Amino acid sequence: MSVVCASHARHPFLLLLLRRLPRVGSPGPSPAMRRSYSLDASAPLLRTRAYVDGRWVSAASAFPVLDPATGQEIARVSDCGPAEAKRAVDAAYRASPSWKRATAKERSVLLRKWFDLLTRHKEDLAKLVTFESGKPMKESESEIAYAASFLEWFSEEARRVYGDVVPSPLRDRKIFLLKQPVGVASIITPWNFPSAMITRKVGAALAAGCTVVVKPAEDTPLSALALAELAEQAGIPAGVFNVVPCSREKTPAVGQVLCTDPLVAKISFTGSTATGKVLLKMAADTVKKASMELGGHAPFIVFDSADVDRAVSGAMASKFRNSGQACVCSNRFLVQSGIYERFVDKLGRAMDAELRLGHGADPGTTQGPLINQRAADKVLQQVSDAVSRGATVLRGGKRLHGSFVEPTLLVDVTTDMLCTKEETFGPLLPVIRFSTEEEALTVANDSNVGLAGYVYSQDVSQMWRVSELLEVGIVGVNEGLLSTPEAAFGGVKESGLGSEGSRYGIDEYLELKYMCLGNLQP
Ligand code: NAP
Repeated sequence: MSVVCASHARHPFLLLLLRRLPRVGSPGPSPAMRRSYSLDASAPLLRTRAYVDGRWVSAASAFPVLDPATGQEIARVSDCGPAEAKRAVDAAYRASPSWKRATAKERSVLLRKWFDLLTRHKEDLAKLVTFESGKPMKESESEIAYAASFLEWFSEEARRVYGDVVPSPLRDRKIFLLKQPVGVASIITPWNFPSAMITRKVGAALAAGCTVVVKPAEDTPLSALALAELAEQAGIPAGVFNVVPCSREKTPAVGQVLCTDPLVAKISFTGSTATGKVLLKMAADTVKKASMELGGHAPFIVFDSADVDRAVSGAMASKFRNSGQACVCSNRFLVQSGIYERFVDKLGRAMDAELRLGHGADPGTTQGPLINQRAADKVLQQVSDAVSRGATVLRGGKRLHGSFVEPTLLVDVTTDMLCTKEETFGPLLPVIRFSTEEEALTVANDSNVGLAGYVYSQDVSQMWRVSELLEVGIVGVNEGLLSTPEAAFGGVKESGLGSEGSRYGIDEYLELKYMCLGNLQP
């Protein structure tokens, strides 16, 4: 295991640049930014080998995990290939019969222990999230609480998997509908919520009696491996939870095993719509059950009757959380003419006052870097496209260094611009003016995806009407942050298949079996 720490001596230029990262609207660096930040090689829960069949296993090679704020290597992680993936699938398959046979109470108790351990180690886990994804510490801490909440929720749901006793049309028969675990599930997750996207799936899978193989994103394997360490400490049996990290180079071959092996019964994926389609095609040959949590393009609609301060604070939370890198992030801001100027003015001031760029480990930081240069390039391309078509930049608009992009406010945005046609996944807030409710709905629904949508209004009839007509799976009315394990999370159109969380999330890992007890003596 090799961990390299940030050092003034080795990367003086990076430090210099980091110190210069400004607050939006005020160019000076904060005193805290004069420090450098590094992940200690002896950080508790830092694991760098794959976790297969209850053992920590090395692969033939390793890949680097980088701190996106500095570009520095923070760890080298075993680079699994198809052989390790196959070993993990086999282990999960072998572990399946006894995990299935465990009582719901036994599975529930283990999930609860795992939850307790996440809660106990929340700071160490949050640090890993910050260093591998760039997220500010406060947000990483929230993510760990959110991740843990799925283990708690599904430890409770494990005991409520009821079947049905159905009235029979014939006197000599009894009809039962049993719910049974589907078997081995392959879990493929993204980097933007490296802990919560795993527990949201795995909590439900394990509660249902399935065993799993997790392939985390190349950028963020450390959170997944830390979860494995805590699963082991919780007493989750060998083979029930396996993690096979790999580099982007090996990902297609590992994905091939996870989506085509006949021993795998189910795939569950969170990531881009494009990748989701590739995985669905691979899984089709063996007709696997599939859950897909894919990309979004959320509209955020502010009507004239809205409380402007609430709308501004909702917009700030919904857009700038994780520097705009969340699937439910608002992507298009539709603001009615009567409130447009007030909303834009207050929003600009809120951005100046509240947003500060920096390393996620700096307590003053609210905006970390984007995950990589490609992500930053995409935002800047959308900005320049919008400007070339007549939009005006009111705040930000520039790359500062590496993948740090200024939070950007664009006005005079129209629907022919790239930023209104595709997901940004960055801190770009484009504002479109509209006149009527019908016009807002037409623009909002003009998308091939439909994950989240937001509505700000004080008119109760309008709240209902618009919520029902929005073609999305999740609606926030006068609320910008919605995620909670109690509610169903999932999209319509090309945003995905199925739901996670809520009492329905566990159904994704269960199948119904009809059992008929016949020829009874009436
Ligand atoms: P991505 O490129 O689709 O990657 C997601 C995961 O899929 C990563 O682990 C990636 O591995 C893996 N992957 C890519 N190609 C694969 C293949 N051929 N076989 C197996 N695995 C493969 O998505 P991303 O850019 O990391 O994440 C951002 C996207 O996720 C956005 O569109 C966002 O909206 C969406 N998202 C959706 C939700 C939701 O709940 N709906 C939540 C979060 C994010 P590598 O890292 O090695 O490439």
